[in-house]
Amino acid sequence: MAAKQMDENLRLSWPTILFILGTTVGALLWPLYAYVYGVTAGEILLAVAYFVATAMSITVGYHRLIAHRSFACRSWVEAIFLIVGSAAWQGSALEWASDHIRHHGHTDTKKDPYNINQGVWYAHIGWLFWKRDVSDVPRFLANDRLIALQHRYYVPLAIFTSFVVPYLIAGTGGLMLAGLVRIVVGHHVTWLVNSWAHIGGNRPYNPNVSAADNWMVALFTFGEGWHNYHHTFPNDYRNGIGALAWDPSKWLVWSMAKLGIAWDLKLVAPTDRWKKRVAGLLDYSDPDGVSVKRLRKTKADLERQIEESRARAQRLLRDSLDYEQAAHENIRDLRERVAGYLTEKQEALTESTRTRLERACETLDNIDVYQSLLERVAMAEAKLARA
Ligand SMILES: [Zn+2]
Ligand SMILES: [Zn+2]
Repeated sequence: MAAKQMDENLRLSWPTILFILGTTVGALLWPLYAYVYGVTAGEILLAVAYFVATAMSITVGYHRLIAHRSFACRSWVEAIFLIVGSAAWQGSALEWASDHIRHHGHTDTKKDPYNINQGVWYAHIGWLFWKRDVSDVPRFLANDRLIALQHRYYVPLAIFTSFVVPYLIAGTGGLMLAGLVRIVVGHHVTWLVNSWAHIGGNRPYNPNVSAADNWMVALFTFGEGWHNYHHTFPNDYRNGIGALAWDPSKWLVWSMAKLGIAWDLKLVAPTDRWKKRVAGLLDYSDPDGVSVKRLRKTKADLERQIEESRARAQRLLRDSLDYEQAAHENIRDLRERVAGYLTEKQEALTESTRTRLERACETLDNIDVYQSLLERVAMAEAKLARA
């Protein structure tokens, strides 16, 4: 690899190499330190708190807020993410987000900074050992005052938050565990998204990209493992979309919105998600990738989606109109009646009833989309079964 990299006029980044080496050796010495001096519950608690806070400052702050602008928040919230995130030692948000935007724009190509096609090791850690071109910093990042400030004072800030603070709170034991060990664990956990989530897992939304949905990676990375969805819809504030999909980062953003300190949460409409999923499946460039099994699974999921939408629309109607008949009516008739009701009774409706009815209309419209997608999948399945 060395010769190849030299060809591209890249040079080794010694400060990064020495930092990774130093922290790794320090972290490996921790068991010996703990054996000699012992470990306290306070040190463990501090390390866990530090791990959660720094990792989520990366996933929610660096990634979903700064790189993807998937929501907006108060400046002081952004400042907290920048200060705490610096303790993760993943570079300034400016560098991190620039690399990440390049990763999304050029996934799986030479321009992708953590290109998986250069090997799992390279995507996980190796890419960091090389100096890279950082001239294409997006304007929106360079113009953000807080991001520029964090970039300028990154090293002293990171030293203070990751080493000085744990030392002041819990002495050398705190420095070892909440500092060194936590940094190394945090590094590898984040890097799993670039390595493991680009090799193993499912690709339901875009089968032609290496990024995969991987629940195990999601478990370790506060929800970042739903990587096929994320690469398909990078601006959605969620990475795991199902109600039960493990995504604590999404839950934090949602909670901040409830508290009124975050807003403009970007969401992909369920119909757009399904259109992409079906298109991804049927337009797959590798013919072996489309199996009867996958088509059947998509069909079953779509049928479930239709049933859930029907139930949701009926629930909304029942709550707003006492619509006992709703269950027996044809979807199109039902939608026309509700739309008529919305125009005729306009004045008499309360705000919440109106919202509910509008949502019911939208849900009924969505069913049409799902049904047409279902027909496409069923046709493909019949064709494949005949072949
Ligand atoms: Zn990726
Ligand atoms: Zn991303």
